[in-house]
Amino acid sequence: MSCDFIALANAGVQALQPYQPGKPIEELERELGLKDVVKLASNENPLGASEMAVEACRKAAEGMYLYPDSSGFELKNKLSERLKVSPKQITLGNGSNDVLDLIARVFLEPGKSAVFSQHAFVVYPIAVQACGARAIVTPAKNWGHDLDLMAAAIEDDTKVVFIANPNNPTGTWLKKAELEAFLAKVPEHVIVVLDEAYVEYVDEPDYPNGLDYLAGYPNVIVTRTFSKAYGLAGLRVGYAISSPEICDLLNRVRAPFNVSTQALAAAVAVLDDAEYLRKSREVNAAGLKQLAAGFDRLGLEWIPSVGNFIAFRTSKDGVSVNAAQVYQGLLHKGVIVRPVGVYAMPDFLRVSVGLESENARFLDVLPNVLDAL
Ligand SMILES: *Cc1c(COP(=O)(O)O)cnc(C)c1O
Repeated sequence: MSCDFIALANAGVQALQPYQPGKPIEELERELGLKDVVKLASNENPLGASEMAVEACRKAAEGMYLYPDSSGFELKNKLSERLKVSPKQITLGNGSNDVLDLIARVFLEPGKSAVFSQHAFVVYPIAVQACGARAIVTPAKNWGHDLDLMAAAIEDDTKVVFIANPNNPTGTWLKKAELEAFLAKVPEHVIVVLDEAYVEYVDEPDYPNGLDYLAGYPNVIVTRTFSKAYGLAGLRVGYAISSPEICDLLNRVRAPFNVSTQALAAAVAVLDDAEYLRKSREVNAAGLKQLAAGFDRLGLEWIPSVGNFIAFRTSKDGVSVNAAQVYQGLLHKGVIVRPVGVYAMPDFLRVSVGLESENARFLDVLPNVLDAL
């Protein structure tokens, strides 16, 4: 009688589970009647928005009856100057998530495969699966990517390798020498995506800047975002940098108006807000130290991170406890963090770096929650 719409969906989509976002503050306040909720769940910038971005966004709002500039002329030009690449190498996205989807749509389909690591960013499996392609997942090494295994996992039908550097949710990063050895091994006809969503936070001397490899490896695509260090998560703007040929392919499937007028204006403005970026980095570096010290004090295992978040093991007297219970306990204390069960890390939680007072509040309630279990 009624149609089986699931059977009607593309094979890849039938097996998909939707992305689970961090819980919104308003939702928790509504559900538990709480006030003063702290959200450390989505790697958002705790500083609030850049005033220069807000001002530009307000001005741009008056143009909301017009379609945005599909070419993103001004933003691409500005990025091109900053990054020393041609505007022809830049593809703008509705967040870098959009760009990752475009890459999957251009290069993947049934009968093709993509390689990524265990515990890697969850958008990769979703994007790959949605295209009906096969995922080849390699075991992690010290919670990070094992590039030797990833290179060895490439098969004849492999078209894309996704690498998050640093990785979310583990915060692990790859060093120059490792990445260079990997790139030298990958066949030229396999696209290597270097997802650098947190690049602005990284201060390690041997951290590789993906842009340095574009000239030598035309199969590399670097993706970046304004959502994290630039504080524009709600506006949705990210980009890819690649060869002009790959950029042209991505633009063939890109929705023509995928980045809004306000997002374009705010992104252009925030690139000039050097003080905002400086403060983002400073607050994050201090927060990472504060959280790490707090975990040490509580005797909790944590994964060293160069992102704006840390994953820690939920345990009591050294014995792992189910992270879902700790997550719930924290919610009842008004602190939202992120469960990472979907990343095959059932006894870990990921906490985003907040302001000093927010980190302190989290560290303050965490032992109470653990004690109550
Ligand atoms: C947050 C994140 C992104 C993308 O976020 P957008 O808001 O879509 O730009 C991409 N990759 C990783 C690893 C991330 O953590």
